[in-house]
Amino acid sequence: MVLTETVPAAAPPAHEGILRRQSLRESAARTYARSLPIVPVRARGLTIEGADGRRYLDCLSGAGTLALGHNHPVVLEAIRTVLDSGAPLHVLDLATPVKDAFTTELFATLPGELAEKGRIQFCGPAGTDAVEAAFKLVRTATGRDGLMAFSGAYHGMTSQALAASGGAQHTSVVRLPYPYDYRCPFRTGGEHGAELAARWTESLLDDPKSGVSQPAGMILEPVQGEGGVIPAPDGWLRRMREITAARRIPLIVDEVQTGVGRTGAFWAVDHSGIVPDVIVLSKAIGGSLPLAVIVYREELDAWQPGAHAGTFRGNQLAMAAGAATLAYVRTNGLARRAAELGARMLDRLTSLAAAHDCIGDVRGRGLMLGIELVDRTADADATGARPADPQLAAALQHACLDRGLIVELGGRQSAVVRLLPPLTITDEQADAILDRLADALTAAVRTTPGPTGSSPTTMRGTTP
Ligand code: PMP
Repeated sequence: MVLTETVPAAAPPAHEGILRRQSLRESAARTYARSLPIVPVRARGLTIEGADGRRYLDCLSGAGTLALGHNHPVVLEAIRTVLDSGAPLHVLDLATPVKDAFTTELFATLPGELAEKGRIQFCGPAGTDAVEAAFKLVRTATGRDGLMAFSGAYHGMTSQALAASGGAQHTSVVRLPYPYDYRCPFRTGGEHGAELAARWTESLLDDPKSGVSQPAGMILEPVQGEGGVIPAPDGWLRRMREITAARRIPLIVDEVQTGVGRTGAFWAVDHSGIVPDVIVLSKAIGGSLPLAVIVYREELDAWQPGAHAGTFRGNQLAMAAGAATLAYVRTNGLARRAAELGARMLDRLTSLAAAHDCIGDVRGRGLMLGIELVDRTADADATGARPADPQLAAALQHACLDRGLIVELGGRQSAVVRLLPPLTITDEQADAILDRLADALTAAVRTTPGPTGSSPTTMRGTTP
């Protein structure tokens, strides 16, 4: 008798099923999941382990949230302590010992007058909600409506929700030039380019026929993150502070991404020494859990009870994790460490740029680093820089993932590869990140045709 055996088809690995179901069930608006098709199941520090058993060095860090990396012991301990204490986990905006400790720790780090006399508003848990709160605060305090913001800025996703709500008012946002050395619209860059940008802002405010009325506030990022890792010169930040102070325009500084040591100072404003009227904080202040606040000068505190309410403003676990993170960064000098290690990594990236003419610029501050990829075959545009090469950037991100390195893309045209590693990484881990990146770049360069499709992008100094 012949037994026929049906050999079952090999089941697809579980992670493939998860990814397939995700793409079938989740929104077309999903983002990171598209370029990073991995299924994280465990994580510690810089490392994520996927359901496929592969390990990745995570330089996305929850979009800059994980100052201490994944599952840092002090963060886990802080969360466990709250869980084991029987404290309520959700209490709207009521006072609790956990919240009190968080506020004390946060105020201990803030620049001068904000620490001494600042007021804090706990907002809904996302950075964008704190930005909304900041706008509402300055509009109420000044009785004015318009806002000033900068080209390339990113402050969140909720403006349309606000515009569609019953209390919406007409919003006018005036765009100002942000100093972007590499693509300076004035074609000078450096201090001079930044000064020209500042003068443009002044002239808009002072020319009675500029068409720009006195705004309720100005909002800026000290280093534009999503906009392509663009650090503003300290001198320019001081100019913006002078210009706004002289005209009694509240200055809102969005430190959602730059805060908690990321740029090599505890807050990025510390580099320039300016004290904003309002500081917007989220991401790392929650120690990997959702938390967002604004801290502002007490003179602005003119809004009414309930002016910016929200159910989820009392996340005790996030406050405990956040307080532990802030204390750890402060007591271990991690901002200084980010400055030193970031400078060394930037040096290595500069050497990489010298070897690859598809790298137009490398820049950053502390452990917020970016590499702008350009079309080496094209002529310079009006700013004097070559056009961005988003196709190569996407290929590089893919090649990095193949080599176990998670990086994010940013910039006007998604052509800036961004590195946001935890502040806790070792020198060896930093080297491993850069080794993988360099190897991935060589591979991406070999396989990607330039945007014109005319010829493959090549290494500097080699014949095409
Ligand atoms: N401001 C800045 C500077 C940001 O980088 C972000 C998020 N990338 C936000 C605000 C919005 O934060 P969230 O995504 O938590 O709403």
